[in-house]
Amino acid sequence: MKEDENVGIRYFDHAATTYIRKEVLEEMMPYLKEEYGNPSSQYRLGRKAKQAIEVAREKVAKVINAKSSEIYFTSGGTESDNLALKGIMYANIKKGNHIITSKIEHPAILNTCKELENEGFKVTYVDVDNNGIVNIKQLLMSINCKTVLISIMYANNEIGSIQPIEEIGKIAKIYNIIFHTDAVQCYGNLKIDVNKLGIDSLSLSGHKIYGPKGVGALYVKKGIEFVNILSGGHQEKEKRPGTENVAGIVGLGEAAEEIDKRMNENIERNILLRNYFIKKMQEKNMRFNINGTMNNRLSGNINISLIDIDGNDLLNKLDSKGICVSNGSACSSGKMTQSHVLKAIGLSKELSKNAIRITLGEENTKEDMDYLVESIFEMKK
Ligand SMILES: *Cc1c(COP(=O)(O)O)cnc(C)c1O
Repeated sequence: MKEDENVGIRYFDHAATTYIRKEVLEEMMPYLKEEYGNPSSQYRLGRKAKQAIEVAREKVAKVINAKSSEIYFTSGGTESDNLALKGIMYANIKKGNHIITSKIEHPAILNTCKELENEGFKVTYVDVDNNGIVNIKQLLMSINCKTVLISIMYANNEIGSIQPIEEIGKIAKIYNIIFHTDAVQCYGNLKIDVNKLGIDSLSLSGHKIYGPKGVGALYVKKGIEFVNILSGGHQEKEKRPGTENVAGIVGLGEAAEEIDKRMNENIERNILLRNYFIKKMQEKNMRFNINGTMNNRLSGNINISLIDIDGNDLLNKLDSKGICVSNGSACSSGKMTQSHVLKAIGLSKELSKNAIRITLGEENTKEDMDYLVESIFEMKK
């Protein structure tokens, strides 16, 4: 298909990725140019790169009230999830072989769990309710003497449901189980205090917070045992060998600091725009189902299924108008498969097929929402 370059882009897919913030890019530039030293080198050029990494480590830690010594830089959310799950399970094999997770996790967690199952580990996948909140009773019931790790995402990337993290943290503590959370969607978007919430391990990623792609971090609380899954040099206290992505790490640090400053104003604007969108859709008498709950939901997440409009047709139409939204289903080898998240909240196949995910960000305006509603309305028969 020939692209129409004249159509401006209206971006509503911030859960997929974000642009790099100007301030972030500016901080990164010197480390892509003149400050190219290897952080492991002893001379000044190397030391300067090393110092820049340590400044970034402080910034990333501060957002979640962690110590900088508890932050390990990785290549992104996927690697952080892999390192947490495998690193913790391998290190604690003497204690047990059982993991508890949920049915709505990101593939970075679910597929790591599958791999661990192939290696002989046991995994329990806990159900969620219609709102996409984990069934705590079931979680409690599945704990046994071999349970080493509970891994429950902080907020879901498809429907934005926010999990009862503090409650899970308490349960983990009572049973002496390690608690990991994939916080890629809410780091910088929600107030997170790892100590208050009882979080032992947490994943985050740069490109979901107006930072660069290909860089992320894993927080692991002091005293929690975990091992490296890559073999190599001494970087990141041997937990993550390989020459550091210096510019990326500097960018992640700056992105963390910037998004933290804007947290409250971002939440306020998102809620305003989200309510405005829903009101406009109702005024136009559009028939739609809101997937998930409006309570305990990330402020920037809207996931709806249009009752009378095919989801795929709608996405194509919106794309032709320069609108970027995500579909609710994963399209694999040309065949639409129902999203595992929408299935888990009990949404019918038909409604799942029509689901669209709109995720808001800092540049979105009321006028963007008007354009989006008008464009959807044009599809109404
Ligand atoms: C995006 C995302 C990831 C993966 O992060 P990458 O940096 O893209 O590897 C993991 N978990 C959640 C919830 C995500 O939204």
